[in-house]
Amino acid sequence: MFDTLSDRLSAVFTSLRSKGRLTDADLDKSMREIRVALLEADVALTVVKAFTQSVKNRARGSEVHQALNPAQQIIKIVNEELIGILGGETRRLRFAKNPPTVILLAGLQGAGKTTLAGKLALWLRKQGHTPMLVAADLQRPNAVQQLQVVGQRAGVEVFAPEPGSGVGDPVKVARDSIEFAKRQQHDIVVVDTAGRLGIDADMMAQAAAIRDAVNPDEILFVVDAMIGQDAVTTAQAFKDGVGFDGVVLTKLDGDARGGAALSVRHITGEPIMFASSGEKLEDFDVFHPDRMASRILGMGDMLTLIEQAETVFDAEQQARMTDKMLGEGDFTLDDFLEQMLAVKKMGPIQNVLGMLPGMNQMKGQLDQLDDKHFDRITAVIRSMTPLERQDPKLINGSRRLRIANGSGTTVTDVNQLVERFFEARKMMRQMSSRFGFGGGGMRRS
Ligand code: GDP
Repeated sequence: MFDTLSDRLSAVFTSLRSKGRLTDADLDKSMREIRVALLEADVALTVVKAFTQSVKNRARGSEVHQALNPAQQIIKIVNEELIGILGGETRRLRFAKNPPTVILLAGLQGAGKTTLAGKLALWLRKQGHTPMLVAADLQRPNAVQQLQVVGQRAGVEVFAPEPGSGVGDPVKVARDSIEFAKRQQHDIVVVDTAGRLGIDADMMAQAAAIRDAVNPDEILFVVDAMIGQDAVTTAQAFKDGVGFDGVVLTKLDGDARGGAALSVRHITGEPIMFASSGEKLEDFDVFHPDRMASRILGMGDMLTLIEQAETVFDAEQQARMTDKMLGEGDFTLDDFLEQMLAVKKMGPIQNVLGMLPGMNQMKGQLDQLDDKHFDRITAVIRSMTPLERQDPKLINGSRRLRIANGSGTTVTDVNQLVERFFEARKMMRQMSSRFGFGGGGMRRS
């Protein structure tokens, strides 16, 4: 998967490598090539548009780093935007305060739900949990038996109606299973539901009824990454019909183009949580947006190199930033993000504050920032339009809600960030007037 996309992106970067400077024409050409590469990989058009626009704005914008050549700059931006499209931070499973944690699997028939149930069970068992699988797919012949086989391979108990018992009500089976799990001290229950070959109102209604009966902590939408553009329509239908908290991509080992992986998070706003990449129960892992992005780019070494180059914070870069920070209020959310990412890359915050002009004064604020905060802030800023980043005053109530949805955060998170940004900017202006820095900044004083 992604081989063609990786090849095409590499070709774009290779053609940039010979350039000493990046002209607008070079950038436009690269963007066109990236756009075609993504469309050919079956990425949804809205996602392609958002992605290329973002990369273009950033490449044109202020964040050109002295230490990087044009190809490296574009690779860096494409990598970060890919991570953003894939959801930013890794979303881990949430466990219930009072066990059992109930995980409901939903998706089309053949998506890989039953296989996934086994994979999840094995993975959880290896971490010391005592999961139980529930066969609430009573529609498909052999579904119960298939789950029993998978459960046996994973070494976990399977709750299913007795053969010939006449229990044909999946909602009842699901409800009973929770009581049973409590009695048997299973701390996690994974409920497999019936799927159909296409989206179907009865199937949705049944999944919703099971959902209401078991009150799941996590609803996972399981989708076959090989179905291309259909993944997006299917995801939307399940989002409307049952709702879900996370996505599991299956069959990532296939040779299809993989656009689903790149579209589904952006379209549904829900994180990709797991990835399945084979028929064996071990072919399964937590989905890490950053690792997937570097796999797509196929250049882990180059990315490390870029990171190292960037941490060499050269004097000219510092001076430029100082100008911005102490200048006449042209410090935007893009600059804010750039500053924070720079600080984050350089290691423990206390050690690097002294290296950044003006940052000592922001120490109080930065101290409160752990990695999670950084990731959240990054996601929020990346979900803003270029105009909003330039002029954060535009960000009214409805925009805040859109940004929160787009970044997988809450309106409170967005509010906090915007407030924090305004505070930082105010502080810089105060410093600027107190120390008499004009638009020229420290360099000239
Ligand atoms: P369900 O109908 O959603 O329960 O789907 P199944 O779990 O029965 O899976 C359908 C088919 O896809 C089976 O033949 C599985 O072996 C296969 N399958 C599931 N997950 C993967 C995967 O990650 N990679 C590959 N190659 N095949 C898979």
